[in-house]
Amino acid sequence: MLKKVLIANRGEIALRIQRACRELGIETVAVYSEADADAKHVRQATQSLCIGPAHPGKSYLNKLALLQAAQLCGADAIHPGYGFLSENAEFAEMIEQAGLIFVGPSAASIRIMGDKIAAKRAMKQAGVPCVPGSDGALAADPQALKQAARDIGYPVIVKAAGGGGGKGMRVVHAEQQLLEAVALTREEARRAFGNPELYMEKFLEHPRHVEIQVLCDGHGNAFWLGARDCSMQRRHQKVMEEAPAPGIADEILREVGERCVNACRQIGYRGAGTFEFLFEDGRFYFIEMNTRLQVEHPVTELTSGIDIVQAQLNVAGGAMLTLRQSEIGCHGHAIECRINAEDPYSFLPSPGAITGWDIPGGNGVRIDSHAGVGYVVPPYYDSMIAKLIVHAPTREQALVRMRGALEEMQVGGILTNLGLHRELIAEPGFMAGSVDIHHLERWLKQRNAS
Ligand code: ADP
Repeated sequence: MLKKVLIANRGEIALRIQRACRELGIETVAVYSEADADAKHVRQATQSLCIGPAHPGKSYLNKLALLQAAQLCGADAIHPGYGFLSENAEFAEMIEQAGLIFVGPSAASIRIMGDKIAAKRAMKQAGVPCVPGSDGALAADPQALKQAARDIGYPVIVKAAGGGGGKGMRVVHAEQQLLEAVALTREEARRAFGNPELYMEKFLEHPRHVEIQVLCDGHGNAFWLGARDCSMQRRHQKVMEEAPAPGIADEILREVGERCVNACRQIGYRGAGTFEFLFEDGRFYFIEMNTRLQVEHPVTELTSGIDIVQAQLNVAGGAMLTLRQSEIGCHGHAIECRINAEDPYSFLPSPGAITGWDIPGGNGVRIDSHAGVGYVVPPYYDSMIAKLIVHAPTREQALVRMRGALEEMQVGGILTNLGLHRELIAEPGFMAGSVDIHHLERWLKQRNAS
């Protein structure tokens, strides 16, 4: 069992990890930037240490400062949360080499999954269904490129092997656009990710985003904890998530879940992870694996009854998972709304001091948040100030519960997207379930036009 964990993150997720540690009797070390000196998780930590100025590059992304802080405080492990260094293989390796524990998979697993070409190859070999596309990296030869696209069939999408955050992708509808699109994406990839390698896939026109949560120990035990639907996105950023994914037959889910779990065993995966799929016309197509805890993990915790962060900590400490796949159920329905400090129309961040904070409660309502009255939302980081999550026996009841919770929630002093969520939760398309990944942007376009 771990004794002391340094939490290399901030905001709600730092608090979430701290709570899990507390329940397991693990001490915590909070590291913070100068902008986060007053943060709640800093006040509550066993120990805390300022690691640098507000700019993330000088604090939360400073690998050496984080490692040294862990060593100084006598921490035996580092939990990276999500974002920042959570999928940085070099960071995981540094920690491993220093004899500390990285709460997550091995650096080698992170490295494979961080290279999307390698990830797709590994998944294909393990029997996970992938989007049809090029075998390996794209060649430079124009004729070979054209042939590859013809074989896949237009429209295709050109993607960077090292891409992330929805960047480094281009959709191509016809052959005359292909070469220019490849050249532009290659240049973008070289600049943004330091890796010019590209690959090509069939562009699916109206898929849903459905993902599978997995949990593995280092002893060959791997489980899947159900599916989440995260199709409500704006600019590839998830806005609302739910579990289970509505309207997908249990047999299809079970089949893909088992394939994910088999793949984990084959690559010796350890910890929590997410297989992201596009789902179209009843079929799953793997796009990438996230080798970390995700923002939307609570919806799966509520439907599976498993505390994913505690499981991560236990596994990192060397424990065996004593679960049985047949006993992991999906109970009721959970929905999460990401509450952001932003203008609900322009989506520009709205940092500043929170002067009013009235949060909902009651049966089946969970709020993961680091904010409150007097909290100043800094301009330097992600604008999410809270996750509002509800759980109810059915999807219909969860929608009603979320509607009430959103009405109760009031935040003063800054702009938030609460109003947007109130509209979305009552929007007939979303209420009916199974919307595709373009639904929200289509709806926004219509709203802005009227
Ligand atoms: P990133 O790591 O940058 O998030 P992903 O491969 O996960 O990149 O793709 C991000 C998003 O781009 C997906 O959620 C989906 O909206 C869109 N996308 C990616 N590949 C395809 C595809 N083959 N067809 C249609 N949309 C795609």
